[in-house]
Amino acid sequence: MKNLLILALSGLFLTACLFGADKGSSSVSSGTVEKVCRLLTDRYGSDAAMSIERGVSQAASLWRAEDGSEKDFETFCQENYVGDPAKKELLFRRLDEQFESLMGHFNKLSLDLKAPLHLDRGEIQPIDLILGQYEPSAHLSDDLFLNKAAFLIVLNFPYYTLTEKSTLGAGWNPLQWGYVRMGERFLARVPAHVNQLISDATTRADNYISGYNIPMGGLVTPKGKTLFPENLRLISHWGLRDELKGRYADPKGLEKQKTIYELMKRIITQEIPSRFIDSKGLRYDPLNNLLYDDKGGKVAFKVGEGAERYERFLEIVQAMKALDAYYPELPTHIARRFEADREIPEVQVEALFTKLLTSPAFAKTAKLIEKRLGRKVEPFDIWYDGFKSRSSLSEELLDKMVAEKFPNTIAFQNHIEKILLTLGFTPEQAAFIAPKIEVDPARGSGHAWGAGMRSEKAHLRTRVPAGGMNYKGFNIAMHELGHNVEQTISLHKVANYSLNGVPNTAFTEALAFVFQARDLDILGMAKKDPKGKDLNALDDYWAACEIAGVALVDMKVWHWAYEHPEATAESLQAETIKIAKEVWNRYYAPVFKVKDQTVLAIYSHMIDGALYLPDYPLGHIIAFQLQSYLEGKPLGPEVERIFSAGRIVPQQWMKNAVGEEISVEPLLKATETALKNQAIR
Ligand SMILES: [Zn+2]
Repeated sequence: MKNLLILALSGLFLTACLFGADKGSSSVSSGTVEKVCRLLTDRYGSDAAMSIERGVSQAASLWRAEDGSEKDFETFCQENYVGDPAKKELLFRRLDEQFESLMGHFNKLSLDLKAPLHLDRGEIQPIDLILGQYEPSAHLSDDLFLNKAAFLIVLNFPYYTLTEKSTLGAGWNPLQWGYVRMGERFLARVPAHVNQLISDATTRADNYISGYNIPMGGLVTPKGKTLFPENLRLISHWGLRDELKGRYADPKGLEKQKTIYELMKRIITQEIPSRFIDSKGLRYDPLNNLLYDDKGGKVAFKVGEGAERYERFLEIVQAMKALDAYYPELPTHIARRFEADREIPEVQVEALFTKLLTSPAFAKTAKLIEKRLGRKVEPFDIWYDGFKSRSSLSEELLDKMVAEKFPNTIAFQNHIEKILLTLGFTPEQAAFIAPKIEVDPARGSGHAWGAGMRSEKAHLRTRVPAGGMNYKGFNIAMHELGHNVEQTISLHKVANYSLNGVPNTAFTEALAFVFQARDLDILGMAKKDPKGKDLNALDDYWAACEIAGVALVDMKVWHWAYEHPEATAESLQAETIKIAKEVWNRYYAPVFKVKDQTVLAIYSHMIDGALYLPDYPLGHIIAFQLQSYLEGKPLGPEVERIFSAGRIVPQQWMKNAVGEEISVEPLLKATETALKNQAIR
């Protein structure tokens, strides 16, 4: 009883504060909302009062003058609110069916329009680029508001906050979850000019990032020595980071790594002369921040000239803020990212990251790295990649085996059922899933694209060279097959279409990694390598620690930007650097024994990704937890049980999957075991 009261009060509070304070440009007065609620409650009884109030308030918040008068709104609600539970279920089933058709066909259209870009079908024509970028469903939401279908849906299947989904959702059946997902299709009504603003800011940021190429041949040490091939151009930051990682295998790599690190610091502070970016013939010494021409003469430049990094970042922040007014329930970009996109509260995400970083395993792993490198760790060793377990089998032999087994895409297609059986799927499952996956020859390295409706197939895109598939291609194809299997199960085996899918990408990646890791089983060469398991855990943990710090910086900078609407590119730069140092000093300095490093701010996705970075460490944590659980279990039945839950909230999904919420414990435990086996205490 007490719980019910609290629930009722919080429901009222929610309605009052979410829809009362800021109605956006709603044209319905609170008086009309109250009147409609009263009329409907009189008709359907007080038990329905809360659901009526929710639906009416939310529909009103989206209603604009051009949709009709207040009287029209009143009539619309009276005619379209479905108070009878059986009729409501009927309405849901009908909508669910129609949305499968709508979304499924739009998905099919996109697949077809992009096919010339994605598939190995000869030269790309200019028209392919135009049509490949065309988004056929772009006007769907507008159309459904125009014909009032969206209002009918919101009125009957209103929105629930993440807190409500997290608490009440534990008791919801799949039908109730379907109701919630149905209503979420129409969270906001964003005008075209605001979408354009975001699209423009994103395009400018993407162009800025994709044009930020460093001519590595121009980098010199203070003594003027070049270190990299003259024609090597690397994009910041991925290219630079991967080059740095690759140098662990190079006996003379340390000097190169140090030079790349100095360069990264100059990019973060924007002290790097902008005329060096994408240049030819110039020489740049990042340690002393000196620029030379091709004859060795000093080139004068003003520090910070043409600095654009934080202008682009600020523009993204401002574009995202322009959405705030249209999401009364989620009035900041931060809230939308965590509560709507990820559906994990920010405090929980932050707690997971800090738990990784404050574990004693962090310093112990650094100690192990020092042992393996034979030197003290440097700050750039956050990218140490020496834990990658490399197969002891020769790649040549594997290439040969794979090419014989899979001379073309059809051979791989015909083998899917057998692959599933080998991995532990039952004959019924394998026979059900295999025909629902189509293998296409890819232009690039490959990807997996799921179906949007049950009558369509999932697509596995893989590249098979003329002489047959090679081992690398096979390894990637196994990863993509994992995605396809998830896509098929979470489309066909969920209780209703509105629930199809997984909570977020980390959950599908987990299964893709499981498939990829078992690739040798398919070749009959299953490796029994106990050390490999330890190395995997260490590699995952170290990578998760690196990106957790980066994500914390991203999160803190966004909070600062929201608290400082007057921010300029200059103040955003200063604050980003300050926050990067603070996060470093708190979690990394005790391990690396050096303070005030800015490196956690180097990620390009911080500039153009609009708070995307927390997805990476979450991905590591979720994937590891799921993989550890699946180890040694009958894969097929477990995968079907787990992934047929569909798109419920992540914490409940994980609880249903492995018996507990999202946790770093499996990763920490495996790391501790690995450290013990390596005699690190
Ligand atoms: Zn993947």
